[in-house]
Amino acid sequence: MAIEPQHITKLKEIAGPKGWSDDQTIIAPHLVEPRDKFSGVTPLLLLPDSTQNVSKLVTYCNQNKIKVVPQGGNTGLVGGGVPDGSGNEIIINLKRLNKIRSEDVLNHTITVDSGVILSDLHDAVEKINFQFPLHLASEGSTMIGGNISTNAGGINVLHYGVTRDLILGLEIVLPSGEILSDLTGLRKDNTGYDLKQLFIGAEGTLGIVTGATLKLYPSHLQKNTAFVAIKNPQSAIELLSLARKISGDNLIAFEILPRIGLDFTIKHMAGCCDPLAEKYPWYILMECATSLEKDLLDLEILLERILETALNKDLVLDGVIAKNMAETKALWNLRESMSEAQKFEGGSIKHDISVPVSKIPQFIELASAAVIKKLPGIRPVPFGHIGDGNIHFNLSQPLGMEKSEYLALWQQINSIVHDIVHSLGGSISAEHGIGILKVQELERYKPEIDLKIMRTLKKAIDPNNIMNPGRVISLK
Ligand SMILES: Cc1cc2nc3c(=O)[nH]c(=O)nc-3n(C[C@H](O)[C@H](O)[C@H](O)COP(=O)(O)OP(=O)(O)OC[C@H]3O[C@@H](n4cnc5c(N)ncnc54)[C@H](O)[C@@H]3O)c2cc1C
Repeated sequence: MAIEPQHITKLKEIAGPKGWSDDQTIIAPHLVEPRDKFSGVTPLLLLPDSTQNVSKLVTYCNQNKIKVVPQGGNTGLVGGGVPDGSGNEIIINLKRLNKIRSEDVLNHTITVDSGVILSDLHDAVEKINFQFPLHLASEGSTMIGGNISTNAGGINVLHYGVTRDLILGLEIVLPSGEILSDLTGLRKDNTGYDLKQLFIGAEGTLGIVTGATLKLYPSHLQKNTAFVAIKNPQSAIELLSLARKISGDNLIAFEILPRIGLDFTIKHMAGCCDPLAEKYPWYILMECATSLEKDLLDLEILLERILETALNKDLVLDGVIAKNMAETKALWNLRESMSEAQKFEGGSIKHDISVPVSKIPQFIELASAAVIKKLPGIRPVPFGHIGDGNIHFNLSQPLGMEKSEYLALWQQINSIVHDIVHSLGGSISAEHGIGILKVQELERYKPEIDLKIMRTLKKAIDPNNIMNPGRVISLK
């Protein structure tokens, strides 16, 4: 049912003069997600600047059964943060809720509004000589509330964990409009159910995150990056294990790149070039970091020791260690451009999967063979966070095939890959979430009891089903 005009008027009144827009040119960027795979329409974009205002808006929506899509930086990749095509959903975007609320340096915590952009948070934290170790290629626009709601991963999960591991407390506006708040910054609190955990990774289906208390870590005083060539994914996981042991757990990133992905990146992305003279089938981008001074631990020597040992064991074929920040950036640019570069090669069918680290080689072998059998000429580009068992198993279309014909195979190919993931005890969504894209796939693989509990929780917290309906879990 279309939203009645008097509700739009009332919501504008509650939001205040700067707190809304119905100008479709302003709304347009909020309607499409980055991969252009999902887009929708809405008559109203709400831009509250306080938790109280979010609460009033949601209360009104709940009373009048108006559907709400919470939105942060709109960098999500599964269609969870944009409205559907009905025109019956309004967006509540958190970008005006963007204050650093307080710092507690002796508690190693910071409390922020949920609309703070991740890179702004990094800058704020750096000023007080700390670091917040969540790093994604989208950090210049993604917001901490979005990161919490997707339980974002990124490149330093290996050492610091996913977003869930970095959260000490949340403030949430529930679908009823009530505010659930625990921003005390306690590290120990065993007083019953840990409610905040429900909202981390809920993709806006259980409420709107408005504030968070986050863990801070000592700043890195040394960081060293290496780019090495390897034979195959089996060498990658053996190198990973070796590097973790030798580094004394100072390994913070470990990413795999296939030659084909590097070829695409060098061909299509400005300023990208081959770091090594020879070509090899696979590469690892690895980084060690520490907050220790060099006289206590020399990271350069440590990284050299790792690579020397790996060379002697035939795990590494060639490599280079970045000598300065410019070289480090150039190496990371190769990794961060890899997804974008695939756009120039036609259609790309994506998978964001995880399996136990030890099973990655088996996964890549089985899944590549299966998709090539289904569609000869398909070009697998498996890359990403191998240190976490998380591969972006992207598949570029065969050369010369019609893009639309190829993309029509999206679900069939997803099923082939996800069946293999499932058989290896893995997850069909390692870090990007479920959104709209994977609702059916979730139902296919989650045990019935898990789905039953998810639906029970959703109905208990959001009985009118106003909060991001249809995303993550269908109610049936
Ligand atoms: C180039 C690129 C690189 C990326 N790399 C990574 C990566 O390495 N790791 C990774 O995990 N992800 C990655 N992503 C995906 C994306 O950046 C993350 O999912 C990010 O956490 C989304 O944050 P956002 O603020 O953009 O949220 P949005 O896209 O606005 O929203 C995402 C979901 O969260 C909900 N939501 C947003 N804000 C709130 C809130 N305050 N309260 C309740 N619900 C809310 C939305 O409804 C939606 O369901 C990448 C994306 C791009 C474009």
